[in-house]
Amino acid sequence: MKVPFFDRTRGDCAVEGELVEALRRLVTSGQYVLGREVEGFERRAVEYLGAAHAIGVSSGTDALLVSLMALGVGPGDEVICPAYSFFATAGAIARLGAQPVFVDVREADLAIDPEALARRVSPRTRAVVPVHLFGLAAPMDAIRQASGTAPVVEDAAQAFGARDGGRSVGTMGALGCFSFFPTKNLGGFGDGGLVTTEDAALAERVRVLRVHGGKPKHHHALVGGNFRLDALQAALLGVKLAGVDALTEGRRAHAARYRALFAEKGLLGSVELPPDTPEHTYNQFVIRVRDGKRDALRDALKEWGVGTEVYYPVALPHQPCFAHLGHRPGDFPVAEAAARDTLALPIFAELEEREVAYVVEGVARFFRDQFGGKNPM
Ligand SMILES: *Cc1c(COP(=O)(O)O)cnc(C)c1O
Repeated sequence: MKVPFFDRTRGDCAVEGELVEALRRLVTSGQYVLGREVEGFERRAVEYLGAAHAIGVSSGTDALLVSLMALGVGPGDEVICPAYSFFATAGAIARLGAQPVFVDVREADLAIDPEALARRVSPRTRAVVPVHLFGLAAPMDAIRQASGTAPVVEDAAQAFGARDGGRSVGTMGALGCFSFFPTKNLGGFGDGGLVTTEDAALAERVRVLRVHGGKPKHHHALVGGNFRLDALQAALLGVKLAGVDALTEGRRAHAARYRALFAEKGLLGSVELPPDTPEHTYNQFVIRVRDGKRDALRDALKEWGVGTEVYYPVALPHQPCFAHLGHRPGDFPVAEAAARDTLALPIFAELEEREVAYVVEGVARFFRDQFGGKNPM
């Protein structure tokens, strides 16, 4: 058997008719950038997320960039972010000439540690960017409190639909940033993103920055960029949005199955499973494999026919492009351990039950071989 790490075609083919219908509507509309399709998608996103405002943008990366621009982040500013995330979280800060100030993550959920965060807030802190990693809401109340008066920009790129006590991620900070990259829970057919905010003035600023800061057109009080969402993406995302809850439920069912099978096979002493909370949306199902065995397990699973990924092999402060910040190995112990230990298993909604079982069987075989053919349990 072969289990792909990710396969979008299974789900997309199931709604092919609706996707083609949306495409037909687009082709006959003649409006390919922003316009009615984007406005319609923004309205539906507002409704789904319970946000006051939603602005469709060109990618999750650009959502972060334009949000920080809307807050006036620039050279000389510090922006706090976790030491463990996808690169764009820190990249957006650095691109504006601001300094990313890295804070270690918590062991339990790999979210930015609110206590460590509070210690790094300074008069130069212009914003704080927590990440809702792998589809699980970060502890926003503690993060907001730790941030003091600094605005919080939620990197919700991996967490569309994730909630915390019923509140949607992206609605709890000053601004929320979503990605519709094809691997995200609400995956588009190319790049796309969304900015959410409860603040009408910030929403207006993001809208203006999205079109080079032109308002009225060709008059620029601000320097923005081309951060526009294509009508094509908006039209197709509208089809996917209608089914996103079912996809998330599919991911949750696989997560529950993984938990049951890992327990049944006596593997809970060998691997650690992600936090078990009902509001997790499992953009990734990331296990921890200690004692330096992660890469060997990954190789063994590959041989067994199972695709996996490592999110992320290098903690952000140790990326070569941030060498000038002078961070040393050991400065971010939790993030550094995560970089060594994390392994993402297949979790896409259309995975089959027998495929999940096959993945766990591959893990079980690996640990049986490790213990000389004897099951450690
Ligand atoms: C995917 C992702 C982004 C960037 O989104 P793109 O749409 O790929 O630009 C930013 N932050 C995190 C945490 C992500 O996972």
